[in-house]
Order: sequence, then structure tokens, then C-alpha cells
Amino acid sequence: MKIPVSMTWLVGYLLMALCGICSAQKLAITFDDLPLNGELPPGVTRPETAKNVLAILKKRHAPPVYGFINAKKLEGSADGAEALKLWAAAEPVGNHTYSHMDLEQNSVEAYERDIAENEPVLELLKADGRDDWHWLRYPYLHEGDTVEKRRAVRAYLKTHGYKIAQVTLDWEDYLWNFAYARCAAKNDAKAIQWLRSSYLSAASQFLDLGRAQAKLIYGHEINYVLLMHLGAFSSTILPDALDLLKKKGFQLVTLEEAESDPAYDGDPDVALHDAGTFLDQWMQVKQIKYPEHADKPYKELDSICQ
Ligand SMILES: [Zn+2]
Repeated sequence: MKIPVSMTWLVGYLLMALCGICSAQKLAITFDDLPLNGELPPGVTRPETAKNVLAILKKRHAPPVYGFINAKKLEGSADGAEALKLWAAAEPVGNHTYSHMDLEQNSVEAYERDIAENEPVLELLKADGRDDWHWLRYPYLHEGDTVEKRRAVRAYLKTHGYKIAQVTLDWEDYLWNFAYARCAAKNDAKAIQWLRSSYLSAASQFLDLGRAQAKLIYGHEINYVLLMHLGAFSSTILPDALDLLKKKGFQLVTLEEAESDPAYDGDPDVALHDAGTFLDQWMQVKQIKYPEHADKPYKELDSICQ
């Protein structure tokens, strides 16, 4: 059959459009340290912060976004509980240990107790009988400074029906939450403008770095899981961060879908000290040299608006 020229153009165009979708890189957003990471500027509440972020996610039609909670933050804090209720009514929640415990500073027994101590609140929060909170996000991404600890906690998680909420993209967004709370308290518009531009530039560079790491480790890109922290700066910068992800060709998916990538089945299975993301861990284990990249503005973020 002879296809008219106009038709071949149309078919070509359609194929290109479809390919644009199929080549999109899948990414799950996750938020840690709920009900709140860092400090808030005066007059801003935790429920307000949660509500604003939830509204942005809804407006952008984001798929379900996990929020990882530390129930210890609810002690003596009614507005923390309110913020968590808002989150859980809209988005899923997962376990980030009761007290944000560091596995490198504590025993396996204490760590397992801290995981269990967080569960009653997760159970209370689960909406519509949904039982999908059995995901653990390791605080500080520390999975064990000895191989025995690493294996023991992994074995505990397996017996208790947990999956590990690994992280493969991270630009340490929490640094901006602390700085923003100070700058907003001082009403320093110029400093806030710098926070916005430095945040987006770090995000852009570390997204590229993560993708380069995946190619070095696996020989190709993978589905990614992005770590963010729910805090003072989140609702201010999130629309721009989502625009950036879109511009870089990421398509938002659920945590379950992202982690269905076989890349997440592996386990470096060695003792590691403050190793960073799952990709950073593999870089260390496989002794792969990092591609050139800029550092984050730690010093400036520490000193700004002090
Ligand atoms: Zn955390």
C-alpha cells in the first residue's frame, strides 16, 4: 500500500511524540522527617506547611508521594499531629524510625526498637485500611557501619514485612529549610532570592550527577527515588523544583514503581560509614571515580541570615 506523503509525516510525528513519553526517566519523590524538618519562621505552623505542599502535589497531579515520619516529634506537639493527619489523608506514610535514630551510633537492638516504636502512629494514620506503611527510610541513609549491623537490620526488615525506601537522588535540600526559616524571620528578600537560585542550581547539578552515577554503575539509567525533606522552604520552592524535574525529562511515578527497577534488588553488603545514597554506596564499593561536579554551598547556607 502506498502511504501518502502527508500520512508518513503524521506517522513520524506520532512516533516521535510517543517516544518522548517512553524515554522519560521515571522518578519517585519522597519527603522525610514528617511532621517537620528543621525550624519554621515565626507565625508559620506545621499544618500550614503540610497543607501547602499537599496542595502543590495535587495541583501538579503527582502520583502518591510517601512521607516518612518520626513520631517522637509528636510528643507535646498538637500541631505536629494535625500536620501528619493532613498528610496521611492525602498521601501515604512510611517509617523513618521513632526518634530519627542513627544506626551508626546505636545498637541493632535499639534500632529495631525504634522502628517498632514508630508503628502505632503509622497504624493510626493509615487511611481506608491501607496497609502500605511498611517501608523504611534509614535516617541519614545510614545502613550500618559494620556488616553485621547492616545484615541484622535487613533481616529484621524482611521478617517484619518491610521494604527499604532507597534513595538514588539527593541534593541535601534540608540545608535550605534551616537557612530559609532564618531568612524569612528577618524578611531578607535578597537572601531568599539567593536561597532560591542556589537551591535550583544544586538540584540541577546533583540530578545530573545521580544520572551519571547510574550510568557508571549499571551502564544505563534507572528509575530514581528522590529524597526531599518537608520543611519551611518546601512549599516555596517545590513548584520550581517540579518544573526543573520536568525540564530534565523526569516523569513522576510512585515509590513502588520506581523501586520495581531491578537496580534496587542489589545490596552492597559491606560496612559503610556515612556513605550517602544507594548510588554513592555502590560507587564506593565498586571504587568508581566520581565525575566532576560542583560542591554544595555548605558554608554560605550555614552563615546566611545568622
Ligand atoms: Zn531524616
